[in-house]
Amino acid sequence: MSFMRILVTGAAGCIGANLAHKLKALGHEVSMIDRFSDYYSVEFKTARVQKLNLLKEIQVLDLNIPGALDQFSNKGIETVVHLAGQPGIRVPYPEKLNYLSDNLNTFNNVISWALKNDVEKFLYASSSSVYENARTKPFIESEILLPPSNLYPFSKWTNEHIANSLIEDCEMKISGLRFFSVYGPYGRPDMAIHRLIEAACTEKSFNLNGDGDIERDFTFIDDVTDRILTLIGYEGPLDKIYNIGGGSNVSMNTLIRVVENTVGKNISIQKKPRFSADLQSTLANNSRINDLHNSTIWTSIEAGIAKTFDWYKVSN
Ligand code: NAD
Repeated sequence: MSFMRILVTGAAGCIGANLAHKLKALGHEVSMIDRFSDYYSVEFKTARVQKLNLLKEIQVLDLNIPGALDQFSNKGIETVVHLAGQPGIRVPYPEKLNYLSDNLNTFNNVISWALKNDVEKFLYASSSSVYENARTKPFIESEILLPPSNLYPFSKWTNEHIANSLIEDCEMKISGLRFFSVYGPYGRPDMAIHRLIEAACTEKSFNLNGDGDIERDFTFIDDVTDRILTLIGYEGPLDKIYNIGGGSNVSMNTLIRVVENTVGKNISIQKKPRFSADLQSTLANNSRINDLHNSTIWTSIEAGIAKTFDWYKVSN
């Protein structure tokens, strides 16, 4: 990929920090923004970007503020990767209002800025949770999806509809990336794999919601960032939506066993009621992204957890 000027929003987050780090290592000029939201530990987030050597370069900005991006208008940004947002499906009220501000409002602000500033390509984070009402499995991008009931996937579903309607009016290439349960080094501490490794290492118990039969298509972070790099560099026409999922689903019970085997310790499990918003199972059909990327191989859960545990040991 030739040299590019790229803006990454949500650069202190799990996907954003890993992506920005890779883009910088490849020699690109990377502008980075994050408001360091406190959805999970700000200390953890700060340490993540410090270790990845990004801290000093990240502009602390709230993309909800109109005009927040004006200072980037003369930078000749060619590609925007918009990852800033409120993740997670289980955020309680009143914090769940962040789905409106950080997901809907920031999306509108960032895509409007990109359109006005002749950005060539706009990639944005959507989510596997938009498949709440899917009839086909593995989930396929071409299925027309009814609006989800949970506010988190609804905000992502709405972003997709806004983006898809703008595509008709502009030359900017726009693609939504439906991520599936991303994990790995510098991953999110609120997510199951991180919490399981921590429980195994510290002998804290792990709160398991439901019976452990829920299945997720876990996706290793390097697989995600490599595919985003492919999408950034690809010069042909892009599809409106890409699934970015590991392509195999693993139940929570299996996941617990894999983490126990990797760490070499048993995990004490506290059973809790199942969250009604949790999908029973997620699984991506990856043919679209596999057609563009130079490899159709995705990291297995065993290999991904081993790499995550290696990172955990040196970081704690
Ligand atoms: P993350 O929480 O680690 O990173 C998101 C970052 O966005 C945070 O650092 C936060 O401070 C920042 N942010 C939030 N609102 C902002 C605002 N108004 N202005 C500036 N910065 C703001 O989450 P992540 O796991 O890296 O996810 C990145 C994106 O991908 C999110 O939009 C998320 O919804 C989506 N996603 C993630 C997953 C996953 O498994 N990680 C799955 C599906 C979708």
